[in-house]
Amino acid sequence: MKSQIKLGTIFGVELGLHYSWLVIALLITFSLVAQFHAVNRNWSDALVWATAITAGVLFFACLFVHELSHALVAKARGLPIHKITLFLLGGVAQIEKEASDPKTEFWMAIVGPFTSGVIGFILLALAMAAGWNPRTAPATPATALFVWLGYINLALGAFNMIPGFPLDGGRVFHAILWWAMDDAERSTRAAAFVGQLIAVLFIGFGIIRFFQGAGLGGLWIAFIGWFLLQAASASYLQAKAGRLLRGLRVADVMSSDCPTIDRGTSVQDFVHEQLLRTGRRCFFVLENNQFVGLVTTNEVRAIPSDRWPLTTVREIMRPIRSIHSVSREMTALEVLEIMGREDVNQLPVMSDGRVQGIVTRAHLLQVLRSRAELNLPPSLPRAA
Ligand SMILES: [Zn+2]
Repeated sequence: MKSQIKLGTIFGVELGLHYSWLVIALLITFSLVAQFHAVNRNWSDALVWATAITAGVLFFACLFVHELSHALVAKARGLPIHKITLFLLGGVAQIEKEASDPKTEFWMAIVGPFTSGVIGFILLALAMAAGWNPRTAPATPATALFVWLGYINLALGAFNMIPGFPLDGGRVFHAILWWAMDDAERSTRAAAFVGQLIAVLFIGFGIIRFFQGAGLGGLWIAFIGWFLLQAASASYLQAKAGRLLRGLRVADVMSSDCPTIDRGTSVQDFVHEQLLRTGRRCFFVLENNQFVGLVTTNEVRAIPSDRWPLTTVREIMRPIRSIHSVSREMTALEVLEIMGREDVNQLPVMSDGRVQGIVTRAHLLQVLRSRAELNLPPSLPRAA
Protein backbone atom coordinates (compact mmCIF):
# COMPACT_ATOMS: atom_id res chain seq x y z
CA MET A 1 0.00 0.00 0.00
CA LYS A 2 1.78 3.08 -1.18
CA SER A 3 -0.70 5.95 -1.43
CA GLN A 4 -0.62 7.18 2.08
CA ILE A 5 -0.14 10.24 4.21
CA LYS A 6 2.75 10.03 6.65
CA LEU A 7 1.84 11.16 10.14
CA GLY A 8 4.99 10.63 12.15
CA THR A 9 6.87 8.05 14.14
CA ILE A 10 6.13 6.68 17.60
CA PHE A 11 8.22 4.03 19.43
CA GLY A 12 10.18 3.71 16.18
CA VAL A 13 7.05 2.74 14.24
CA GLU A 14 6.01 4.86 11.28
CA LEU A 15 2.34 5.88 11.26
CA GLY A 16 0.53 6.37 7.98
CA LEU A 17 -2.95 7.01 6.72
CA HIS A 18 -4.28 5.52 3.51
CA TYR A 19 -6.30 7.99 1.45
CA SER A 20 -9.34 5.71 1.57
CA TRP A 21 -9.51 6.43 5.27
CA LEU A 22 -10.53 10.02 4.57
CA VAL A 23 -13.76 8.65 3.05
CA ILE A 24 -14.50 6.77 6.27
CA ALA A 25 -13.65 9.84 8.37
CA LEU A 26 -16.18 11.89 6.39
CA LEU A 27 -18.86 9.18 6.68
CA ILE A 28 -18.32 8.93 10.43
CA THR A 29 -18.49 12.68 10.89
CA PHE A 30 -21.68 13.05 8.79
CA SER A 31 -23.46 10.16 10.48
CA LEU A 32 -22.53 11.52 13.91
CA VAL A 33 -23.77 14.98 12.95
CA ALA A 34 -27.11 13.43 11.95
CA GLN A 35 -27.26 11.41 15.15
CA PHE A 36 -26.40 14.30 17.49
CA HIS A 37 -28.91 16.52 15.68
CA ALA A 38 -31.66 13.93 16.16
CA VAL A 39 -30.90 13.14 19.81
CA ASN A 40 -29.85 16.52 21.15
CA ARG A 41 -32.21 19.00 19.58
CA ASN A 42 -31.10 21.81 21.90
CA TRP A 43 -27.45 21.69 20.67
CA SER A 44 -26.32 24.42 18.30
CA ASP A 45 -25.01 23.51 14.85
CA ALA A 46 -21.50 24.51 15.86
CA LEU A 47 -21.64 22.29 18.95
CA VAL A 48 -22.94 19.31 16.92
CA TRP A 49 -20.18 19.66 14.33
CA ALA A 50 -17.42 20.23 16.89
CA THR A 51 -18.48 17.14 18.85
CA ALA A 52 -18.76 15.00 15.69
CA ILE A 53 -15.33 16.05 14.42
CA THR A 54 -13.72 15.50 17.83
CA ALA A 55 -15.32 12.05 17.97
CA GLY A 56 -13.97 11.23 14.49
CA VAL A 57 -10.43 12.29 15.40
CA LEU A 58 -10.51 10.38 18.71
CA PHE A 59 -11.87 7.27 16.97
CA PHE A 60 -8.93 7.42 14.66
CA ALA A 61 -6.57 7.73 17.66
CA CYS A 62 -8.22 4.64 19.21
CA LEU A 63 -7.60 2.66 16.00
CA PHE A 64 -3.94 3.64 16.15
CA VAL A 65 -3.69 2.54 19.78
CA HIS A 66 -5.16 -0.83 18.74
CA GLU A 67 -2.59 -1.26 15.96
CA LEU A 68 0.20 0.06 18.13
CA SER A 69 -0.54 -2.62 20.72
CA HIS A 70 0.04 -5.28 18.02
CA ALA A 71 3.24 -3.54 17.01
CA LEU A 72 4.61 -3.28 20.54
CA VAL A 73 3.99 -6.96 21.31
CA ALA A 74 5.63 -7.85 17.98
CA LYS A 75 8.63 -5.72 18.91
CA ALA A 76 8.85 -7.17 22.40
CA ARG A 77 8.87 -10.64 20.80
CA GLY A 78 11.68 -9.69 18.46
CA LEU A 79 9.73 -9.23 15.21
CA PRO A 80 10.75 -6.16 13.23
CA ILE A 81 7.88 -3.78 12.62
CA HIS A 82 7.93 -1.39 9.75
CA LYS A 83 4.91 0.86 9.88
CA ILE A 84 1.22 1.09 10.65
CA THR A 85 -1.23 2.21 7.99
CA LEU A 86 -4.89 2.91 8.59
CA PHE A 87 -7.10 2.16 5.63
CA LEU A 88 -10.73 1.67 4.73
CA LEU A 89 -11.73 -1.02 7.21
CA GLY A 90 -9.28 -0.53 10.02
CA GLY A 91 -5.57 -0.73 10.23
CA VAL A 92 -2.67 -2.89 9.32
CA ALA A 93 0.46 -3.15 11.33
CA GLN A 94 3.05 -4.11 8.76
CA ILE A 95 5.07 -6.65 10.62
CA GLU A 96 7.94 -7.77 8.43
CA LYS A 97 7.84 -11.42 9.41
CA GLU A 98 5.17 -13.86 10.41
CA ALA A 99 5.35 -15.13 13.97
CA SER A 100 7.62 -18.16 14.22
CA ASP A 101 5.78 -19.88 17.06
CA PRO A 102 2.13 -20.13 18.14
CA LYS A 103 2.61 -18.31 21.45
CA THR A 104 4.00 -15.20 19.75
CA GLU A 105 1.17 -15.19 17.24
CA PHE A 106 -1.40 -15.64 20.01
CA TRP A 107 -0.19 -12.71 22.11
CA MET A 108 0.43 -10.51 19.11
CA ALA A 109 -3.13 -11.05 17.86
CA ILE A 110 -5.13 -10.99 21.07
CA VAL A 111 -3.59 -7.81 22.43
CA GLY A 112 -5.46 -5.72 19.80
CA PRO A 113 -9.07 -6.66 20.65
CA PHE A 114 -8.09 -6.68 24.33
CA THR A 115 -6.79 -3.11 24.06
CA SER A 116 -9.93 -1.93 22.24
CA GLY A 117 -12.11 -3.64 24.85
CA VAL A 118 -10.26 -1.98 27.73
CA ILE A 119 -10.47 1.44 26.05
CA GLY A 120 -14.20 0.86 25.51
CA PHE A 121 -14.91 0.01 29.14
CA ILE A 122 -12.79 2.91 30.43
CA LEU A 123 -14.67 5.38 28.20
CA LEU A 124 -18.08 4.06 29.28
CA ALA A 125 -16.97 4.29 32.93
CA LEU A 126 -15.85 7.88 32.31
CA ALA A 127 -19.25 8.64 30.76
CA MET A 128 -21.00 7.26 33.85
CA ALA A 129 -18.67 9.23 36.12
CA ALA A 130 -19.65 12.33 34.13
CA GLY A 131 -23.29 11.68 34.91
CA TRP A 132 -24.50 9.44 32.06
CA ASN A 133 -27.30 7.03 32.90
CA PRO A 134 -26.97 3.91 30.65
CA ARG A 135 -30.76 3.82 30.20
CA THR A 136 -30.90 7.25 28.58
CA ALA A 137 -29.20 9.00 25.69
CA PRO A 138 -26.16 11.03 26.77
CA ALA A 139 -27.12 14.69 27.17
CA THR A 140 -23.82 16.60 27.27
CA PRO A 141 -21.18 16.71 24.50
CA ALA A 142 -18.59 15.07 26.79
CA THR A 143 -20.82 12.13 27.74
CA ALA A 144 -21.99 11.77 24.12
CA LEU A 145 -18.33 11.51 23.05
CA PHE A 146 -17.42 9.00 25.77
CA VAL A 147 -20.49 6.85 25.12
CA TRP A 148 -20.11 6.75 21.34
CA LEU A 149 -16.35 6.09 21.50
CA GLY A 150 -16.86 3.53 24.28
CA TYR A 151 -19.37 1.51 22.26
CA ILE A 152 -17.40 1.80 19.04
CA ASN A 153 -14.26 0.48 20.76
CA LEU A 154 -16.19 -2.44 22.23
CA ALA A 155 -17.60 -3.13 18.75
CA LEU A 156 -14.13 -2.88 17.26
CA GLY A 157 -12.77 -5.39 19.79
CA ALA A 158 -15.69 -7.75 19.17
CA PHE A 159 -15.52 -7.48 15.36
CA ASN A 160 -11.81 -8.22 15.40
CA MET A 161 -12.40 -11.33 17.49
CA ILE A 162 -14.45 -12.94 14.69
CA PRO A 163 -12.40 -16.07 13.99
CA GLY A 164 -11.98 -15.21 10.31
CA PHE A 165 -8.37 -15.32 9.21
CA PRO A 166 -6.69 -12.76 8.93
CA LEU A 167 -8.70 -10.76 11.47
CA ASP A 168 -7.18 -10.79 14.97
CA GLY A 169 -9.66 -13.45 16.05
CA GLY A 170 -8.64 -15.59 13.08
CA ARG A 171 -5.01 -15.26 14.11
CA VAL A 172 -5.83 -16.19 17.70
CA PHE A 173 -7.75 -19.21 16.38
CA HIS A 174 -4.85 -20.08 14.08
CA ALA A 175 -2.36 -19.82 16.97
CA ILE A 176 -4.48 -22.22 19.04
CA LEU A 177 -4.79 -24.70 16.14
CA TRP A 178 -1.07 -24.38 15.48
CA TRP A 179 -0.29 -25.11 19.12
CA ALA A 180 -2.72 -28.06 19.18
CA MET A 181 -1.73 -29.58 15.81
CA ASP A 182 1.94 -28.63 16.07
CA ASP A 183 1.89 -28.02 12.31
CA ALA A 184 2.11 -24.46 10.98
CA GLU A 185 0.87 -25.26 7.47
CA ARG A 186 -2.00 -27.57 8.26
CA SER A 187 -3.26 -25.12 10.88
CA THR A 188 -3.07 -22.25 8.36
CA ARG A 189 -5.16 -24.21 5.86
CA ALA A 190 -7.69 -25.07 8.57
CA ALA A 191 -7.87 -21.47 9.86
CA ALA A 192 -8.24 -20.09 6.32
CA PHE A 193 -11.03 -22.61 5.62
CA VAL A 194 -12.93 -21.57 8.75
CA GLY A 195 -12.36 -17.94 7.78
CA GLN A 196 -13.89 -18.54 4.36
CA LEU A 197 -16.83 -20.38 5.91
CA ILE A 198 -17.54 -17.48 8.26
CA ALA A 199 -17.21 -15.03 5.38
CA VAL A 200 -19.77 -16.98 3.33
CA LEU A 201 -22.13 -17.04 6.34
CA PHE A 202 -21.78 -13.25 6.61
CA ILE A 203 -22.58 -12.80 2.93
CA GLY A 204 -25.59 -15.14 3.13
CA PHE A 205 -26.91 -13.53 6.31
CA GLY A 206 -26.42 -10.05 4.85
CA ILE A 207 -28.33 -10.92 1.68
CA ILE A 208 -31.18 -12.49 3.68
CA ARG A 209 -31.35 -9.40 5.89
CA PHE A 210 -31.41 -7.22 2.80
CA PHE A 211 -34.42 -9.05 1.37
CA GLN A 212 -36.11 -8.97 4.77
CA GLY A 213 -36.01 -5.19 4.50
CA ALA A 214 -32.88 -4.32 6.47
CA GLY A 215 -31.69 -2.28 3.48
CA LEU A 216 -28.19 -0.89 3.70
CA GLY A 217 -27.53 -2.66 6.99
CA GLY A 218 -27.88 -6.01 5.20
CA LEU A 219 -25.68 -4.95 2.32
CA TRP A 220 -23.06 -3.73 4.78
CA ILE A 221 -22.94 -7.16 6.47
CA ALA A 222 -22.62 -8.83 3.04
CA PHE A 223 -19.84 -6.39 2.15
CA ILE A 224 -17.92 -7.24 5.32
CA GLY A 225 -18.35 -10.91 4.41
CA TRP A 226 -16.99 -10.28 0.95
CA PHE A 227 -14.01 -8.43 2.44
CA LEU A 228 -13.35 -11.33 4.83
CA LEU A 229 -13.59 -13.83 1.97
CA GLN A 230 -10.99 -11.93 -0.06
CA ALA A 231 -8.71 -11.62 2.94
CA ALA A 232 -9.03 -15.29 3.91
CA SER A 233 -8.29 -16.42 0.36
CA ALA A 234 -5.31 -14.08 0.18
CA SER A 235 -3.80 -15.35 3.42
CA TYR A 236 -4.33 -18.91 2.26
CA LEU A 237 -2.52 -18.19 -1.00
CA GLN A 238 0.25 -16.46 0.91
CA ALA A 239 0.66 -19.47 3.17
CA LYS A 240 0.72 -21.71 0.10
CA ALA A 241 3.30 -19.49 -1.61
CA GLY A 242 5.35 -19.63 1.57
CA ARG A 243 5.25 -23.41 1.49
CA LEU A 244 6.17 -23.58 -2.19
CA LEU A 245 9.00 -21.09 -1.88
CA ARG A 246 10.47 -22.67 1.21
CA GLY A 247 14.20 -23.19 1.07
CA LEU A 248 14.69 -20.71 -1.77
CA ARG A 249 17.01 -17.78 -1.31
CA VAL A 250 17.70 -14.72 -3.39
CA ALA A 251 20.99 -16.24 -4.55
CA ASP A 252 18.98 -19.09 -6.16
CA VAL A 253 16.56 -16.94 -8.11
CA MET A 254 18.49 -13.79 -8.99
CA SER A 255 19.92 -13.24 -12.42
CA SER A 256 23.39 -11.78 -12.48
CA ASP A 257 23.80 -11.06 -16.19
CA CYS A 258 21.87 -7.83 -16.13
CA PRO A 259 22.01 -5.59 -19.15
CA THR A 260 23.54 -2.22 -18.43
CA ILE A 261 23.36 1.09 -20.23
CA ASP A 262 25.28 4.30 -19.96
CA ARG A 263 23.43 7.12 -18.24
CA GLY A 264 23.98 9.46 -21.20
CA THR A 265 22.02 7.25 -23.64
CA SER A 266 18.88 8.89 -24.99
CA VAL A 267 15.60 7.25 -24.15
CA GLN A 268 14.96 6.91 -27.89
CA ASP A 269 18.14 4.83 -28.42
CA PHE A 270 17.52 2.90 -25.24
CA VAL A 271 14.02 1.88 -26.33
CA HIS A 272 14.91 0.91 -29.89
CA GLU A 273 18.32 -0.62 -29.38
CA GLN A 274 17.88 -2.29 -26.00
CA LEU A 275 14.37 -2.54 -24.67
CA LEU A 276 12.62 -3.69 -27.85
CA ARG A 277 15.51 -5.87 -29.06
CA THR A 278 16.32 -7.82 -25.92
CA GLY A 279 12.86 -8.26 -24.46
CA ARG A 280 14.30 -7.43 -21.03
CA ARG A 281 12.29 -5.11 -18.89
CA CYS A 282 14.86 -3.79 -16.50
CA PHE A 283 18.30 -2.23 -17.02
CA PHE A 284 21.06 -0.98 -14.77
CA VAL A 285 22.23 2.54 -15.44
CA LEU A 286 25.99 3.02 -15.19
CA GLU A 287 28.13 6.08 -14.68
CA ASN A 288 31.90 5.49 -14.93
CA ASN A 289 31.23 1.78 -14.40
CA GLN A 290 29.35 2.58 -11.19
CA PHE A 291 25.76 1.49 -10.72
CA VAL A 292 23.70 4.67 -10.27
CA GLY A 293 20.13 3.62 -10.95
CA LEU A 294 17.55 1.40 -12.55
CA VAL A 295 15.34 1.99 -15.57
CA THR A 296 12.35 -0.12 -16.57
CA THR A 297 9.42 0.08 -18.98
CA ASN A 298 7.49 1.93 -16.26
CA GLU A 299 9.86 4.90 -16.35
CA VAL A 300 9.81 4.99 -20.16
CA ARG A 301 6.02 4.94 -20.22
CA ALA A 302 5.90 7.94 -17.92
CA ILE A 303 7.14 10.34 -20.62
CA PRO A 304 5.55 11.01 -24.02
CA SER A 305 7.34 9.38 -26.97
CA ASP A 306 8.00 12.65 -28.79
CA ARG A 307 10.33 13.60 -25.95
CA TRP A 308 12.33 10.37 -26.10
CA PRO A 309 15.12 11.71 -28.39
CA LEU A 310 15.70 14.72 -26.10
CA THR A 311 15.70 12.91 -22.79
CA THR A 312 18.56 10.87 -21.37
CA VAL A 313 18.16 7.68 -19.41
CA ARG A 314 19.66 9.44 -16.41
CA GLU A 315 16.74 11.87 -16.25
CA ILE A 316 14.11 9.14 -16.00
CA MET A 317 15.95 6.45 -14.05
CA ARG A 318 15.14 5.61 -10.49
CA PRO A 319 18.29 6.59 -8.59
CA ILE A 320 19.91 3.96 -6.42
CA ARG A 321 19.18 5.96 -3.25
CA SER A 322 15.44 5.53 -3.74
CA ILE A 323 15.54 1.80 -4.46
CA HIS A 324 15.00 -0.84 -1.84
CA SER A 325 17.69 -3.48 -2.29
CA VAL A 326 17.93 -7.03 -1.03
CA SER A 327 20.81 -9.28 -0.06
CA ARG A 328 21.70 -12.72 -1.47
CA GLU A 329 20.86 -14.41 1.81
CA MET A 330 17.24 -13.20 2.05
CA THR A 331 14.51 -15.75 1.41
CA ALA A 332 12.45 -15.63 -1.77
CA LEU A 333 9.30 -15.19 0.30
CA GLU A 334 10.69 -12.12 2.08
CA VAL A 335 11.52 -10.63 -1.32
CA LEU A 336 8.00 -11.30 -2.60
CA GLU A 337 6.64 -9.55 0.49
CA ILE A 338 8.88 -6.53 -0.05
CA MET A 339 7.78 -6.33 -3.70
CA GLY A 340 4.17 -6.30 -2.60
CA ARG A 341 4.75 -3.69 0.06
CA GLU A 342 6.87 -1.37 -2.08
CA ASP A 343 4.78 -2.02 -5.19
CA VAL A 344 7.76 -2.84 -7.42
CA ASN A 345 8.40 -5.70 -9.85
CA GLN A 346 12.15 -6.00 -9.43
CA LEU A 347 14.74 -5.43 -6.75
CA PRO A 348 18.50 -5.13 -7.16
CA VAL A 349 20.60 -7.55 -5.15
CA MET A 350 23.45 -5.75 -3.37
CA SER A 351 26.36 -6.90 -1.29
CA ASP A 352 29.21 -4.76 0.03
CA GLY A 353 27.75 -1.77 -1.77
CA ARG A 354 28.01 -3.49 -5.15
CA VAL A 355 25.21 -4.69 -7.37
CA GLN A 356 25.27 -8.45 -7.72
CA GLY A 357 22.20 -8.90 -9.87
CA ILE A 358 18.49 -8.51 -9.92
CA VAL A 359 15.50 -10.48 -8.75
CA THR A 360 12.20 -10.00 -10.59
CA ARG A 361 8.62 -10.75 -9.64
CA ALA A 362 8.01 -12.48 -12.98
CA HIS A 363 10.86 -14.90 -12.35
CA LEU A 364 9.72 -15.63 -8.78
CA LEU A 365 6.22 -16.35 -10.05
CA GLN A 366 7.64 -18.69 -12.67
CA VAL A 367 9.48 -20.62 -9.99
CA LEU A 368 6.28 -20.72 -7.95
CA ARG A 369 4.34 -22.05 -10.93
CA SER A 370 6.87 -24.79 -11.68
CA ARG A 371 6.86 -25.88 -8.07
CA ALA A 372 3.07 -25.85 -7.92
CA GLU A 373 2.83 -27.91 -11.14
CA LEU A 374 5.19 -30.55 -9.81
CA ASN A 375 3.45 -30.39 -6.43
CA LEU A 376 6.73 -30.86 -4.60
CA PRO A 377 6.69 -31.89 -0.96
CA PRO A 378 7.34 -29.07 1.51
CA SER A 379 10.77 -30.32 2.51
CA LEU A 380 12.81 -29.96 -0.63
CA PRO A 381 16.14 -31.58 -1.05
CA ARG A 382 18.33 -28.65 -1.79
CA ALA A 383 21.80 -28.24 -3.23
CA ALA A 384 24.05 -26.21 -0.98
ZN1 LIG B 1 -6.03 -5.85 15.34
